[in-house]
Amino acid sequence: MSYPYNPDLYGPEHEIFRETFRRFIAEEMEPHVDEWTENHLIPREFWRRAGEAGMLGVDIPEDYGGPGGDFLHRLVIAEELGYSRAGASIAPAFIGDGTAEILRRNGTEEQKRHWLPLMVKGQARFAFALTEPDSGSDPGSMRSTAVRDGDDYVINAAKTYISNFVHADAVMLAVKTDPEAGSRGISVIIVETDRPGFRRGRSLRKMGSNAADTGEIFFDEVRVPVTNRMGDEGGGFKIMMSGINMDRITWPLIAHAAATRAYHETVDFVKNRKAFGQAIWDFQNTQFKLAEIKTELAVGRAFLDEVIRDFIATGKLDPLKCAMAKMWLPEMEGRVIDQCVQLHGGAGYMDEYTVSRLYTAARLHRIFAGTAEIMRVIVARSI
Ligand SMILES: Cc1cc2nc3c(=O)[nH]c(=O)nc-3n(C[C@H](O)[C@H](O)[C@H](O)COP(=O)(O)OP(=O)(O)OC[C@H]3O[C@@H](n4cnc5c(N)ncnc54)[C@H](O)[C@@H]3O)c2cc1C
Repeated sequence: MSYPYNPDLYGPEHEIFRETFRRFIAEEMEPHVDEWTENHLIPREFWRRAGEAGMLGVDIPEDYGGPGGDFLHRLVIAEELGYSRAGASIAPAFIGDGTAEILRRNGTEEQKRHWLPLMVKGQARFAFALTEPDSGSDPGSMRSTAVRDGDDYVINAAKTYISNFVHADAVMLAVKTDPEAGSRGISVIIVETDRPGFRRGRSLRKMGSNAADTGEIFFDEVRVPVTNRMGDEGGGFKIMMSGINMDRITWPLIAHAAATRAYHETVDFVKNRKAFGQAIWDFQNTQFKLAEIKTELAVGRAFLDEVIRDFIATGKLDPLKCAMAKMWLPEMEGRVIDQCVQLHGGAGYMDEYTVSRLYTAARLHRIFAGTAEIMRVIVARSI
């Protein structure tokens, strides 16, 4: 079984990369993912191996130590990770690698020269911290602040649900530099985690995707030089948005690939499992459900292909179509995987069956990188 990607979208360099990444998943992720899921953490050593194998910062140019790939390499990662069993547990941590691309687009030359080669090699890990205990979908209401003091900022912040917080050497931190200015008062500052006043809080237990660590971080009077700011003061919202379309095509692709994996697993299962003297497949209900699933997958993929083709033609992601994809595909994924669990019977509820992991992972996809409701707000604005 493998993900039925659309070869027309990709060049020979992406094909080669896909083969390498598939092998990397099989050799470096699948054998370890159960242990990492138990530990709620991927060991630091994995990220070094991923960096050495050229699997991190795939679109970072060679000038900055990267492999010099392009955005389509990222999409290959999304498809293959989404389709894998390991991906269901690991994806939020692995896709967090998008911080390298955010830095490439928005960092100063000095920040890029310092951090990017380390990030690409897996020698420096970053977290991106926006969400707070009282502010998620509405970043304008955040309370964390950075107050200018000479050539420094003094930061007081509390962030939660932060992916990759355990190994983070630095945090791309969204804070208010002008608390009166709503979302126009937000800046993004790189804060090294060895600065006095930085503290890690609880590692949060989740319903799924448990190899990826998620937790709380606190900044108590943390002093950083003003040169650690990315972009303009007050330009943080723009920086956050610069990575958001990337996320809003990556997660729909992961959703599609995960739903496809669940479908393949289920076809296999129902043809082998028997009840009342016949294969589960022989019940017309099973055939109808799988016919619906096959159709939903085809419809979803056609829209993803359109968004990707637009990108290949124009070099830009259409924000409206990305919002539509981020709204619809994770919901489609939810419907599909729910049916796949049902067709597995009790086995579908058991962690050892891949559909069970895909089910809990899928629930996340409607929530983060912009909730399904926020996507509706964006789409509605265009009407
Ligand atoms: C596993 C995991 C990893 C994460 N990793 C990170 C990370 O690395 N960095 C980071 O900064 N954050 C991270 N997050 C946080 C995530 O981005 C937020 O949970 C998400 O943006 C939603 O914010 P919230 O939880 O505060 O929900 P809220 O904003 O409080 O929303 C609650 C409900 O209200 C709805 N709602 C809100 N506003 C509207 C509206 N205008 N109209 C209609 N409905 C609305 C929402 O859609 C949702 O259903 C992560 C979350 C999870 C679960």
